[in-house]
Amino acid sequence: MKNIVLFGPPGAGKGTQAEILKQKYQLVHISTGDVFRYNIKNATELGTLAKSYMDKGHLVPDTVTIDMLKAEVEKNPQANGFIFDGFPRTAAQAEALSHLMDDMNSQINAMVALEVDDEILVGRLLERGKVSGRADDANEAVIRERIAEYYRKTDILKEYYQNQNKYHGVDGVGSIEDITERLSKVIDKL
Ligand code: AMP
Repeated sequence: MKNIVLFGPPGAGKGTQAEILKQKYQLVHISTGDVFRYNIKNATELGTLAKSYMDKGHLVPDTVTIDMLKAEVEKNPQANGFIFDGFPRTAAQAEALSHLMDDMNSQINAMVALEVDDEILVGRLLERGKVSGRADDANEAVIRERIAEYYRKTDILKEYYQNQNKYHGVDGVGSIEDITERLSKVIDKL
């Protein structure tokens, strides 16, 4: 089983690359942001709660996010491996993921991080906002808050995985194909 955390700030290209990598390596792709958006669209209780945080560019609380992630993993008992996109985003989430993998007699094999400068991220997200229909892409202040939230709570996870020798940084600027190639070089060695 190959379990990969695809990491990086908002706008780094995680969603785009995860869609390609899941096909290439036959992995189950779990994007916590996508699951929240699905719940918002279907007006569930979880969706209403998540929206109140997402619209401000803040993270959804850990307990809610961790329970949801566990349920998504458990829906796929036959998985060949997982590609986690947008999770973990806090130290508590990383610990919970580690326990979940232990329970499955498995582990996270690598965190592969897309590295992109902040001003490029803002530009990409503003562009995406013209077509994505995402409320949190439509407003520059919310975009900047999401990036600030990343530095406050998420960036420290690099160190968490570096300490386990599982961190791999990849240049996230270039064509989609070139970036897939860079990520694949890391994944092929796992
Ligand atoms: P994303 O689609 O990954 O950009 O996530 C969009 C929004 O969903 C984030 O700004 C958060 O509000 C929320 N979200 C997604 N994943 C998580 C997570 N792992 N922990 C907390 N909030 C999350």
